Amino acid sequence: MYGITIVGGGIAGLALAAALDADRFHVTVHEQRNTLPTVETSLAMWPEAQQALDAVGILPEIQAAGSAFSAMALRDVAGKAWFRAEAAGVIGVSRADLLRLLDFVVPDSVSRVPGAVTSLPDAGLLVGADGVHSVVRRQRWGPRSAERLSPYLALRGIVDEPVPADAGGEYWGRGELFGIAPASRERTYWYASYRSALGPGGIDIEAALDLTRRRFSGKAQGIDRVLAGAAPEGTLAQRIWTVPALRRYTRDGTVLVGDAAHGMTPNLGRGACEALVDSVTLAGLLNSRPLPEALKAYNKRRVLRSQALRAASSAMTRLVLAESAQPLRDRILSMAGRLRRSA
Ligand SMILES: Cc1cc2nc3c(=O)[nH]c(=O)nc-3n(C[C@H](O)[C@H](O)[C@H](O)COP(=O)(O)OP(=O)(O)OC[C@H]3O[C@@H](n4cnc5c(N)ncnc54)[C@H](O)[C@@H]3O)c2cc1C
Repeated sequence: MYGITIVGGGIAGLALAAALDADRFHVTVHEQRNTLPTVETSLAMWPEAQQALDAVGILPEIQAAGSAFSAMALRDVAGKAWFRAEAAGVIGVSRADLLRLLDFVVPDSVSRVPGAVTSLPDAGLLVGADGVHSVVRRQRWGPRSAERLSPYLALRGIVDEPVPADAGGEYWGRGELFGIAPASRERTYWYASYRSALGPGGIDIEAALDLTRRRFSGKAQGIDRVLAGAAPEGTLAQRIWTVPALRRYTRDGTVLVGDAAHGMTPNLGRGACEALVDSVTLAGLLNSRPLPEALKAYNKRRVLRSQALRAASSAMTRLVLAESAQPLRDRILSMAGRLRRSA
């Protein structure tokens, strides 16, 4: 049997381990984390990601555990809605549930190796599924492929109350974003992002939450309500990192999947979705074609699309977190909203 070594047992690594043909490959997964994430956060799963979840056999469980998005409002920072759009077909799912369900369908034949990989194992095909700070990418693609620190801080968490009436959606301010979405019928997922010098490592959650409360205080009732219920132990704060553009995801017996290949800003909500699609696509090709052909086809199917999304996500971040262009942006959005309503 051919050996496949996966560095990283997150969304991409587990999906790949679950989808590879256990009769053809001896699969090993290295994962440095001992436990599932302790703070709950929510991920939007778009239809392509749901197809990938179906391919690994966990779509019904994800549908049962998650909550379907129905509509999404785009608002100014005071809460006035510019647009309301259907979000049919998108499911919000907790990252912990997704990881737990993926973990469950990884066959027992897969070897699990705990601990952080520092020097790359030299056996069969090596897969970098080790996220935006990928050691595999840095060692095989060189220092120019190192992750880049963005100036933005992201906070997210879940509060134990339903979404306040007419408060769901995204609020775009001057260099600041706040999001409110259902995590389930009884709980609310919130997120915020703005430029900050906090971090990149060792961010004090209480200080970040405090800063966020001061920044958004009094801007919109829905935001005040959600932030009043947010507690440091239920909040995650991190600086956003991205991966520079790559032309190929394969090199010298190595292949990249997920954030290791195309770590992007979170403003399109596509990173985890693309990680799932990468892994299921790669597994399907490896299961059915000779190795060189499979890797060639993987590049062809995945590089252009995921790099386009990476670039689109950066453009979206510039629009959402616009500073000097914010008044113009808001005027255009307000006008476009009025035109749409009167059409
Ligand atoms: C604020 C925010 C909101 C987001 N919202 C969404 C959303 O709504 N929808 C969406 O699709 N995406 C979203 N994303 C993106 C999503 O979180 C990532 O794209 C996704 O987690 C990528 O999965 P991955 O498995 O490639 O990487 P990761 O989730 O980073 O997993 C990598 C794994 O590798 C392990 N690892 C790393 N290095 C080593 C090593 N050296 N040795 C062993 N193990 C190692 C890590 O412990 C981890 O388990 C969001 C991201 C952020 C920051």
